[in-house]
Amino acid sequence: MDGGAKMLDDPTFQEIIIDITNDEESSVPIIECLLKEKTTDEEIAEETEIRLNIVRRILYKLYDAGVATYKRSKDPETQWYTYSWRFEQEKITDIISRKYEKFSKEIEKSLEYEEENMFFLCSSNEHRYNFDEASENNFQCPKCGGALEYQDNSTIIVELKQMMEKIT
Ligand SMILES: [Zn+2]
Repeated sequence: MDGGAKMLDDPTFQEIIIDITNDEESSVPIIECLLKEKTTDEEIAEETEIRLNIVRRILYKLYDAGVATYKRSKDPETQWYTYSWRFEQEKITDIISRKYEKFSKEIEKSLEYEEENMFFLCSSNEHRYNFDEASENNFQCPKCGGALEYQDNSTIIVELKQMMEKIT
């Protein structure tokens, strides 16, 4: 279960969990419990000292997002149902890799755009245009009126390439 514990510290993982539950503070310890084989809502509430209601709400949110499942069983003595929950780590890994894929495609697109275009920046350094846009506006910023000057974008290209290398 080492992989699971490490995953809990991953900012991308935490981001996904917050997206799902809107509650990072309670979600992470609950998932930690599930990874430690504490599987019923009561066990989790006891271990984390988080209110049972909140534990249940988060478990169902995780379930709704497809990253947790449960098994229902009936206690033969009390006739009560128990739900034992499981955290589906692989589903999270899938979500993360899809996210990275999307991110790397976005970088690829920006890189292409940077490489294929010339850019112009206005004197306030706030507005940026490609050649066609700059030319159409007679090299004057339509937003602030400042003069548009050619911008060397080679540093941006280098940075995008470095980002690309980091995630692939
Ligand atoms: Zn401007």
